[in-house]
Amino acid sequence: MYKVRKTMTVSASHHISFAGGTQTEPDHGHNWKITVWCASEELDADGMVVDFCDIERRICGYLDHGDLNELLPFNPTTENLARWICDQIPQCYQVEVEESPGNAASYER
Ligand SMILES: [Zn+2]
Repeated sequence: MYKVRKTMTVSASHHISFAGGTQTEPDHGHNWKITVWCASEELDADGMVVDFCDIERRICGYLDHGDLNELLPFNPTTENLARWICDQIPQCYQVEVEESPGNAASYER
């Protein structure tokens, strides 16, 4: 099994809407530190599990300097963001997203 790990930072704003609709955070930004793990039993024709640039394009290219509430069709919590990132990359099996120092969520499939 081949495995690769990529780390990247996305600067983006969001706000969380709490269940019941009685409370919504004000918009604010984070520098989200994202770590993505990918695996494959076979390498592609270029000898890669996945092209690091392709991950960068799919995740940073879409989210960086954006408003997560506009870009994503769900309440953009750190947990939901980790799941969404994993779903964008077929070879991905684990994602960790650190919203701010000490506050992180991960998703593993
Ligand atoms: Zn936040």
